[in-house]
Amino acid sequence: MTLQYINNELTMHGHKLTDIAKEYGTPLFVYDETMICEQCRRFHSALAKSRLNYTISYASKAFSAIQLFNLMAEENMGLDVVSEGELYTALKSQVDPARIHFHGNNKTDQEIRYAIESGVEYFVIDSLDEIERIDRLATKQVKAVLRINPGVEAHTHEFIQTGQEDSKFGLSIKKGLALEGVRKIEAAENIDFMGVHFHIGSQIFESTGTVETVKLVIEWLKENDIEIQVLNIGGGFSIKYTDEDVSYPIEEGIQTITDALKTACETFDYHVPELSLEPGRSIVGEAGITLYEVGNIKEIPDTNYYVSIDGGMSDHIRTALYDAKYELRLVNREEAHDKMMTIAGKLCESGDIIRRDIRLPSSIQTGDLLTVLSTGAYHYSMSSNYNQMLKPAVVFVSEEGVRPVIRRQTLEQLVQNDII
Ligand SMILES: *Cc1c(COP(=O)(O)O)cnc(C)c1O
Repeated sequence: MTLQYINNELTMHGHKLTDIAKEYGTPLFVYDETMICEQCRRFHSALAKSRLNYTISYASKAFSAIQLFNLMAEENMGLDVVSEGELYTALKSQVDPARIHFHGNNKTDQEIRYAIESGVEYFVIDSLDEIERIDRLATKQVKAVLRINPGVEAHTHEFIQTGQEDSKFGLSIKKGLALEGVRKIEAAENIDFMGVHFHIGSQIFESTGTVETVKLVIEWLKENDIEIQVLNIGGGFSIKYTDEDVSYPIEEGIQTITDALKTACETFDYHVPELSLEPGRSIVGEAGITLYEVGNIKEIPDTNYYVSIDGGMSDHIRTALYDAKYELRLVNREEAHDKMMTIAGKLCESGDIIRRDIRLPSSIQTGDLLTVLSTGAYHYSMSSNYNQMLKPAVVFVSEEGVRPVIRRQTLEQLVQNDII
């Protein structure tokens, strides 16, 4: 991240964040565009080094924007979408529809038809019912991979595991549903079976769970004589929110995983499939920050010191949702972090907190600018209009300059669907 204090002011690629806030207002999402590209390139070079055939799809739910998707197209990334809306946004971008994968545990008939019409590369099928549905709705031959549930618990420190046995995602290997699914797709008239997919969780900071799963899956494929072209191992690579976290070591981690795949294929005498990855958070998470203006400050003697900002859970839900922790910086001057405080949002929920008990400069006053770090993933995309808050604007910053990516929502847009 190129965030840096220059002349006592926080800058990104040399641009003062105060100037950016003045031009685009607050709350504002600011992305280091260069860092987004670098993250894509790190995954590409780590995978290229393995000499396996591979593809990478950006999991668009982390942050969906047409200009971001265009950047993904330039960086040779495909896209994962899970809804009509994400597909629509993707089709407005320069991403080749043949690089789009359609996910989700409950695709509607309308979404299935739309995806087929649009020429997506493949569906990631998530249930036995869905196989029949896609087969029935297919107007031409379609491709699919099956999402399986390996029953492996991801090593993650958040509440976002998805690989355990009791999950709404995937078909369980252990319960025999995965095999039933494969046979059913193979028998389906209008579906070509391409391979299998798993995603064992998010914010995974090391590779043990993935390695274990790769072995287990290859053994299962061999045992059951299942032929695949694609092994899709999902996303979930961690980022650093605070000093308690580690960014997933992309270079070493990918090498560990690709080595494990090669070894498993050798051990079980199985041909090496194409490997697919679906990173979301690790592409955009650390590259994004949020800018807020400080409003009221309230001291409760011997209890707490609340600093309220001009946004909240409408643009920052992860603290309320997961008790997630964030680092903050005072933007318009650099000062020692000498006072314990709680940074609160302005919405009507006690849980609307950005960060509890954090040390920040005691001089913080109304009108100052604060930034929350590592908000590039699952912030804008999880934003809402609760309390009729307007969705913030988004800008990209690089050495070349600052460019708007998403406009701030307007009051008229807030009520445009109201029938009066
Ligand atoms: C959410 C998700 C991803 C991306 O997860 P990140 O933690 O953002 O990398 C990838 N694949 C699937 C199936 C997902 O549900």
